[in-house]
Amino acid sequence: MSLLSGKDAKKAWELLLKEYPDAGCELDFDSAFHLLVSVVLSAQTTDKAVNKVTPALFAMAPDAFAMASLPAEKIEECIRSIGLYRTKAANLKKLSAALCEEHGGEVPSEYGELVALPGVGRKTANVVLAEAFGQQRIAVDTHVFRLANRIGFVGEDDVVKTEEALMKLFPKDIWRRMHHALIWHGRRVCHAKNPDCDNCCLAGLCKHN
Ligand code: SF4
Repeated sequence: MSLLSGKDAKKAWELLLKEYPDAGCELDFDSAFHLLVSVVLSAQTTDKAVNKVTPALFAMAPDAFAMASLPAEKIEECIRSIGLYRTKAANLKKLSAALCEEHGGEVPSEYGELVALPGVGRKTANVVLAEAFGQQRIAVDTHVFRLANRIGFVGEDDVVKTEEALMKLFPKDIWRRMHHALIWHGRRVCHAKNPDCDNCCLAGLCKHN
């Protein structure tokens, strides 16, 4: 797999940051707990679909204690329009119970404590640390993985290696912004199928052929 030279990688990330100056999290949330809930709900569905169901869910469950004490059926009713809603409802209850039992109902701000929670993986933990706690993180979701490897920033075959390689490549102070710029570019231009290369700011640099 061919990679961008250091000089071209810098050109490419500068172009992406310029193209998406306002790129940010597209999930609606008002607390670390609600962000965590939204990220759990966003598995295999769109942020838009999640944002449609969360206002009612957040009203019923303003915090982890309220969510843990809701009957699973109530949560299911609220989130029925998104995929895997039964599993997700059960996971939200388990996750909320663990937050109440182990963290006094608060979302921890340590990576190790986050990934120890039921249903919280590396990507979810990184999104929460970046968006709720303002840490510089690169959460590698399907878009970030596809684009980072397609463009030629990195040449890795799994998400963990991709995250590590991106952290080495990008200056730390742009990790969060690059994470969002890659996601926005993946959603708007560099689709998984039929990327719109003719209208891409990286045409001529990108290693995809
Ligand atoms: S040139 Fe094509 S493949 Fe490369 S980033 Fe742009 S849309 Fe994606």
